[in-house]
Amino acid sequence: MCRAAIPGRSVLKKQQRMKNLSLHDLKEGLLHLFYPRLCEGCNRPLIAAEFVVCIGCDAQIPETRYHDMPDNETAMRFAGRVPFTKATSFAYFTDDSLLQHLLHGLKYRHNKDIARYLGRRFANSLAASDWLSAVDMIVPVPLHRKREAERGYNQSMTLAETMAKHAGIVARADTLVRVRATESQTRKTRAERAENMAGAFAVRNAPEMKGKHILIVDDVLTTGATIEACAQALMAVENVKISIATIGIAVS
Ligand SMILES: [Zn+2]
Repeated sequence: MCRAAIPGRSVLKKQQRMKNLSLHDLKEGLLHLFYPRLCEGCNRPLIAAEFVVCIGCDAQIPETRYHDMPDNETAMRFAGRVPFTKATSFAYFTDDSLLQHLLHGLKYRHNKDIARYLGRRFANSLAASDWLSAVDMIVPVPLHRKREAERGYNQSMTLAETMAKHAGIVARADTLVRVRATESQTRKTRAERAENMAGAFAVRNAPEMKGKHILIVDDVLTTGATIEACAQALMAVENVKISIATIGIAVS
């Protein structure tokens, strides 16, 4: 008997996977026919290979290229305030920019795909300079329980998870928690922001983080008061190393 006539288990599994894939593709295709995915930047329909923004808009995001510059602007904003190993930001954040629109959509329109898109772009740019290889764990800036319940998710956690997945490391949302709700920072001065955030965070599972290199991830860096308070809380862990990465850095 010809052995090739009987399909092996792996062949059957592959056929099943292809069947599932084509059904999924068909469903997606039909969905996009009636509801085409549009670019978040220019509103044109996206092609299959594009995700969230078109290739043209993607190329226009002003990347900082800070990763290999130890004295970059992100690092300078934290200098003398908290001990850290490295600090960087992905792109410049200005008023009325595409990045502002994307981060607004992430926060207020609850578009998780934006977090996945930006997290992947940031992780790829960090991989090019071998930035994440020394990091053990990514920790997002936590929202207060109430705020997270209102919004349904923490946008920084989705960013952190995407970055961690691409770098092959872990993201943890249960190690740093917000223990106090804080007032909005938008109308506060730098000193008031620092005072508002002091003691807002606490560390859980400290023994697990002993001696680890932790990367704090957030969406936009302005004065850095929130990240500074997170880093202060993490400093309670024995022999911990801290690095900082934000998607945007606010510049005027
Ligand atoms: Zn576009």
